[in-house]
Amino acid sequence: MNLSFPKRLSLAQLPTPLTLLSRLSSAVDGPRIWIKRDDMSGSAISGNKVRKLEFVLAKAIAQGADTILTCGGVQSNHCRTTALLCAQLGLHCHLLLRGQAQTPPTGNLLLDQLTGATISYYSVAEYVARGDQLFDDWVAHYKAQGRQPFCIPVGASDGDGLWGYLAAAQELADDCQRLGIAPKHIVCATGSGGTQAGLTVGSKLCGLGARVWGINVCDDEQYFLAKVASDIRQWAQRYGVDATPADFEISVIDGYVGAGYAKAGPEIFALIRQLAACEGVVLDPVYTGKAFYGMLQEIRQGRFSDSEDIVFIHTGGIFGLFAQSEQLFADPDH
Ligand SMILES: *Cc1c(COP(=O)(O)O)cnc(C)c1O
Repeated sequence: MNLSFPKRLSLAQLPTPLTLLSRLSSAVDGPRIWIKRDDMSGSAISGNKVRKLEFVLAKAIAQGADTILTCGGVQSNHCRTTALLCAQLGLHCHLLLRGQAQTPPTGNLLLDQLTGATISYYSVAEYVARGDQLFDDWVAHYKAQGRQPFCIPVGASDGDGLWGYLAAAQELADDCQRLGIAPKHIVCATGSGGTQAGLTVGSKLCGLGARVWGINVCDDEQYFLAKVASDIRQWAQRYGVDATPADFEISVIDGYVGAGYAKAGPEIFALIRQLAACEGVVLDPVYTGKAFYGMLQEIRQGRFSDSEDIVFIHTGGIFGLFAQSEQLFADPDH
């Protein structure tokens, strides 16, 4: 398929490395484990959201936006990335955060506050009950001031943000060709579905041909099958692509959410310590720690035994670890 990419800003440090976790791979009986280091797509502005925002912010600027509104949890990586990029681009940023202000702020929230973004906090109940109305009210507020607001949905996961990981799949196809590997499986954490949607589409259209598995860190399989399909449908409609969700294999591995979104058990913190010590790679307790843990469990159960190589997409999230630092060494077995 001849894809014509829309306008894109160059915001991420690309290409990111694709490296073999050699010591871990020899300790685990299964395919060789490779890691696509999207946690290295920048410094404070790093992780998977930068790739999506290259397309979403290009669209916002093309439409004349001067104010960006977005939302997420109080330790949202997406909100931190958006706030920093808005500062870089000279746009005003307003974050609608689910949760309470923290004093002093840590992790992502500390960085949000550094940028001078406007931050509104909502209780979980209010955030859920008001939904899109929150955006609508603030949009009306900014328009009344003569400003041009632009709303980015949670995680920048929609038909526009999908381009980010479609392009990443193309980059990964080049990496694999250069390294002479042909992984049959790609694994990523899935939280709002956009990374998985882009990779799923891109793996097929860019000739990678690997099956993309999202390991969900909230909600469940049904939710993400529908969400990824809906992002793909919106992408095809918005960009006039002759494709439907049924053209792609959408695969979710449920069972690793644990106690809930952003709540990790001692096994996740133990894995974070282990991978840092064994490979110098830092996972986070909200997304990549759970997904990596899930991938290792599934390798042990033989799900990926038909492939010599498997790729884990490291989507970032390191600042979320600082926000949960007490739990990192709280494990009595440590
Ligand atoms: C947002 C995020 C994810 C999930 O990506 P989605 O595209 O929202 O599904 C995974 N890992 C990290 C570190 C994230 O910040």
